[in-house]
Amino acid sequence: MQSEHSELLAEIAAMKWPTFLSDGDCVGTPDPKLFDDEDRKKTVEAKKICSECPVKQKCAQWGIDNEDSGIWGGMDHKDRAKARRGKRKFVSMEKRRENLEWMQDIWSDKPAADLAIKYGKTERTIYRWRDKERKRVQNLGWSPFRPS
Ligand code: SF4
Repeated sequence: MQSEHSELLAEIAAMKWPTFLSDGDCVGTPDPKLFDDEDRKKTVEAKKICSECPVKQKCAQWGIDNEDSGIWGGMDHKDRAKARRGKRKFVSMEKRRENLEWMQDIWSDKPAADLAIKYGKTERTIYRWRDKERKRVQNLGWSPFRPS
């Protein structure tokens, strides 16, 4: 069974890929489960790789904002929980899946009219969402497409 971390990575890859990850030291790591945060020894090894990584800060922030499992920027789930405490409301997995679906819709070629019906909004709102999302992603330096 695919781990939650790998599943999320696949979801992210399918819709928006944080471009900094392609510069990460974990790219091409032989053990795909190394960063899953499920095995103490592997976690220590993964954190060691992260400590030298040139995109550690961006990755850690991504993890704090988006991930509830896995090692991101040298932080495991407990480290992120500490960093979030008092700063940010944690978003449940179910809510995140809804958000992912929304983002996939926004980035898709689906007609605005169809999405307006699906979300109970006007077409104008859909255009506004698309514009806002494009700007947000641009500001964060993300790409909706995984780099080839
Ligand atoms: S900080 Fe760690 S998880 Fe993030 S890109 Fe670098 S090596 Fe990968």
